[in-house]
Amino acid sequence: MENILTSETIYASQMQCGNLTQIKNLARQAIRPRTDNYDLQCTALRSWSVNSGPMNEFLRQSAADIKKFQLSRIKNLVDNAYKNVPFYRDFYGACGYEEGSISSFSDFETLPIVTKTLLNDFCPSIRVNSPDVLEFANTFRTSGSSGKPFTVYTDDEDIVLDHLEVLRFYNSCLQYPLQESDWIYVIHHSGLAFSSLQGKYKTFQLPDLLADTPLGEHLLHLRPRLLITLPSYLPLILKHKAELQLSGVEAILTNSESSTQFERTYYSKALGIPVFDEYSSEEIGLIATQCSYGTYHAVEDGVYLEIVNADKGGFGSVICTDLNNELMPLIRFDHGDIARKRPDLKRCDCGSPCTALLEINGRRDDAFRTYDHQLVPSASILAAIDDILVTPDKTLGAFRMIQKSADELELVTHYKGQPHMPMVEILAQLTTRLSVLFGYSITLSHQAVEALPELKSYKRRSIVREWRVE
Ligand SMILES: [Zn+2]
Repeated sequence: MENILTSETIYASQMQCGNLTQIKNLARQAIRPRTDNYDLQCTALRSWSVNSGPMNEFLRQSAADIKKFQLSRIKNLVDNAYKNVPFYRDFYGACGYEEGSISSFSDFETLPIVTKTLLNDFCPSIRVNSPDVLEFANTFRTSGSSGKPFTVYTDDEDIVLDHLEVLRFYNSCLQYPLQESDWIYVIHHSGLAFSSLQGKYKTFQLPDLLADTPLGEHLLHLRPRLLITLPSYLPLILKHKAELQLSGVEAILTNSESSTQFERTYYSKALGIPVFDEYSSEEIGLIATQCSYGTYHAVEDGVYLEIVNADKGGFGSVICTDLNNELMPLIRFDHGDIARKRPDLKRCDCGSPCTALLEINGRRDDAFRTYDHQLVPSASILAAIDDILVTPDKTLGAFRMIQKSADELELVTHYKGQPHMPMVEILAQLTTRLSVLFGYSITLSHQAVEALPELKSYKRRSIVREWRVE
């Protein structure tokens, strides 16, 4: 039977709506990524069966062995970038870099830091190691927290590796590993790279969760072992507590927005299910994942993580080097987030030797609020902007969305050319999407500017709430 699986039946996981119309309507809005195809699912499944063991072993090595691995990866990555990527050739050349000159982490850490703004000044063909493959490469174009659209290019191998790291993290949150027939339930505007691996490890994705979504009923229908969600949905999920527990969900995993340990502990206790947080981004993939002791551990086979310019409290900028993206290397990439590293080098009580972050303070909670002070997830607002303005629109230079009152929003844009469709149409689509998120009609005004006005204390914020509810 397995041999006759077609591309359509492979995506059948999204059809498992259990005759619930509201679920069906939401599920239909999920966007299937280009990578979610038969061949790549096959590659990922094969890779998972061969590599899941060694990938677990990797995390049981000594910290010294992990560092040794990272340094050798970094040497190759930097040399290849210098040889094959025009941007790095000039950038490193200007500071006197020569091939083979990294022999320690301190050598590496003298290389200049790269930012999104800097990379955005160069056209994509200058930022990759092979301009010929650009049109076939996977792209992630993100609004990001800085409000300046940025495109990341990756190859299929990187997509598969990122997915395997995600599966390994899922297993670390469970008492026993995911079985091939288990379901993963994702309540998130962006789903996983694969809806299943050829019908195994199936995922169901709800791009949004609304007040009247029959989540409990659907969980009882699918009986997933894991629930992946935005932290802002936790209060709504709590309303389905009884069904959630009956359905057998063993752990809840949060990502994309910052949430406090306090909040997660609260919901974990209220639901009687552990909640684990993940720190990840479109640009890098998984960066760090929480263990059962609440510590964030860097995913050291995927990323080399530094905290630089730390203040007295230990908070500094998160600098990431993606160890697997050879196509468009991101080396010493400033993520625009703030985090605090564990000051000593003691092994975590969970046994992990990996770099430990105690707190991630980035992507401050910029959430808009409704009349009755309910949170509207910033990630969902950014997703609406991504879908309607950023992804199709190559001419949008920067934007900011401001909440003026309970039902008034203002969009400020800086365009570098003509928008892809009339502004009236863009605003109408956006108003509809935002009204759904708020649960009532909002009005959206628009201001086109030459440059975004600087904000005194929140330079990086593209979502700003001026309306004070407290
Ligand atoms: Zn730990």
